[in-house]
Amino acid sequence: MAAIGAKRLAVIGAGMVGVCAASWLQRDGHSVFLIEASAPGRGASLGNAGCFNGSSVTPVAMPGVIRNVPRWLFDPLGPLSLRWSYLPAIAPWLLRFARAGTPEKVRAQARALRPLVGPSLEALKPLVSAAGAEHLVHRLGHLYVYRSAAGPEKDRLAWDLRRENGVQVEEFDADELRQLEPALSRDFVRGLLVRENGHTSDPLALVERLVEHFLRSGGELVHAEARGFRLESRRLAAIDTSAGELPADAAIVCGGAYSKPLAAVLGDKVPLETERGYHLMVRDPEVMPHIPTADADGKFVATPMDTGLRFAGTVELAGLAAPPDWRRARILLELGRRMLPGLAASYPQERISVWMGHRPSLPDSLPVIGPSRATPDVIYAFGHGHVGMTAAPMTGKLVTDLVAGRRPAIDIAPFTARRFA
Ligand SMILES: Cc1cc2nc3c(=O)[nH]c(=O)nc-3n(C[C@H](O)[C@H](O)[C@H](O)COP(=O)(O)OP(=O)(O)OC[C@H]3O[C@@H](n4cnc5c(N)ncnc54)[C@H](O)[C@@H]3O)c2cc1C
Repeated sequence: MAAIGAKRLAVIGAGMVGVCAASWLQRDGHSVFLIEASAPGRGASLGNAGCFNGSSVTPVAMPGVIRNVPRWLFDPLGPLSLRWSYLPAIAPWLLRFARAGTPEKVRAQARALRPLVGPSLEALKPLVSAAGAEHLVHRLGHLYVYRSAAGPEKDRLAWDLRRENGVQVEEFDADELRQLEPALSRDFVRGLLVRENGHTSDPLALVERLVEHFLRSGGELVHAEARGFRLESRRLAAIDTSAGELPADAAIVCGGAYSKPLAAVLGDKVPLETERGYHLMVRDPEVMPHIPTADADGKFVATPMDTGLRFAGTVELAGLAAPPDWRRARILLELGRRMLPGLAASYPQERISVWMGHRPSLPDSLPVIGPSRATPDVIYAFGHGHVGMTAAPMTGKLVTDLVAGRRPAIDIAPFTARRFA
């Protein structure tokens, strides 16, 4: 029998954010169905670096970052690339991005992000335990490595923001780094370790296990594309999908980088873009770091996964439709060899795999979480950019509070869609 106040709820999108939202809503007593156009976990949640970094409070648009852009763009191994034909389309987003990067604004963004990402592992734990997926989630820390002793000083503001928001950081010199992670190149002479951080050793398997448990607990998965909403007097009547109208009392939009049109039909113009990212995996690698390790200058992460060693990162601005540029993935192997010289000089095709995915990114590095303009029954939960795996469990709890009419556990005002009006 349904609990009093239980509703029939639709969650649009079965990525990490959608499945966490669906799971928390289900635990609150609702009857929940996921609407997924593809297959669960096959979007950005598949190929990311797998890090649950509660310390990820630093926005992408940090002060001065724009000054690095020309150097990055002209370096073939650089962390950023742009398809020039896409420049006119992305120019308004870039303008907002540049404006978001003032010292005052990034301090406010970091303060807003910390309560969303900090409790990630605690908020994920009940879902993972119920799904029997504990073996996929690890709390071993996250290491950032630098090639010069002065490196961390260059990133001073980022480290200040982390520390100001309660992140504990341990520093290591070259010898200590060697003991901590013997596989690392001797070029690295400084390491900063954040022990509170965790990771998953298989992001896709994690989403799939969570979805399986959701289905075993009475949830449904509808294979369809959501296209719009039918409202009656500002209340949601049904979701318009490729499989017809699906009645629901409320809907949560978790469509990742594809959420923009669904917000637009409800009158919310959200400057959602995709920061495309790549990964390259080496099966049976000769060496692996023991914990996720970020090359702070190269801006990529090496994560030990159940299926091999994953190098993930880089940003490509080219929109949702352009085909992948696999050179962007292959440079990760070159960068990875510089990080871990014990890797082989070449690999047969069957030991290498590559992937491209769409980070759903807002220019101020904050997601959109909260009710739509047109109706309180459609709630947004998208745009988590570089930290969607980490922010998903708390996002799920927040939308569950909103559906129940409870005051959310943290301040969600910074995440409103109206901040772009
Ligand atoms: C290279 C790279 C590395 C990253 N590393 C990390 C990391 O280490 N830690 C971290 O926290 N984050 C990381 N991220 C970011 C993270 O992967 C994303 O923020 C996160 O996966 C977004 O999750 P999501 O559920 O919002 O979107 P997605 O996983 O993309 O899921 C959205 C789902 O919605 C479906 N959908 C969309 N529109 C519709 C519709 N209209 N109808 C039906 N279904 C729809 C899609 O098919 C998709 O399955 C990384 C990203 C990249 C690219």
